[in-house]
Amino acid sequence: MNFLEERIIKDGKVKPNNVLKVDSFLNHQMDISLMEEIGREFRRRFSDKQITKVLTIEASGIGIACFVAKEFGVPMVFAKKSHSINIDSEVYIAQVESFTHKNINNIVVSKQFITAEDRVLIIDDFLANGCALQGLIGITKSAGATVEGIGIVIEKGFQIGGQIIRNLGIQLESLAIVDAMDAETGTVTFREQ
Ligand code: 5GP
Repeated sequence: MNFLEERIIKDGKVKPNNVLKVDSFLNHQMDISLMEEIGREFRRRFSDKQITKVLTIEASGIGIACFVAKEFGVPMVFAKKSHSINIDSEVYIAQVESFTHKNINNIVVSKQFITAEDRVLIIDDFLANGCALQGLIGITKSAGATVEGIGIVIEKGFQIGGQIIRNLGIQLESLAIVDAMDAETGTVTFREQ
């Protein structure tokens, strides 16, 4: 088991409806030493790529993406969830269905911050059905930039997102892949990587 899998076993909580809560160390309270280790691990896994921007989506991707961007020495950009209907022409926009809240959000990134020269590493906390990632890939492509890779902290391997993204031919690195979890017993089973 790697450092993240060990932490999920120790502090993760399996909730009904295929939700894994990692609020005590990843997306409410954050363990900063763990964030540093996550940043270093993504740096190692994408060490052959010339990354110029790290891109994520608010809110829970932001903290993680900061540590990754620090390792690469590049800016971090986060897509904002926009409730406004009047989206201006200065932003790239995509529609994303939220796995946790089941609503549809517009996500936007200012055209200033992703440009055709950028080589983008997309980072997020979870991969479930892949909607968030498809939105971020769409925004990157709208800018004419390239997606160099995707780094996910926890992939839920029993949901469809991982397969969709791998079928696109993008390098997808997930630090932990959960193949099964049981809300009654609290057990989490990881995929051997
Ligand atoms: P997707 O778009 O891949 O369906 O879902 C990814 C997004 O939903 C992530 O950005 C994450 O915030 C949220 N998410 C999906 N599954 C879980 C989960 O099991 N636990 C938590 N805490 N967030 C999740």
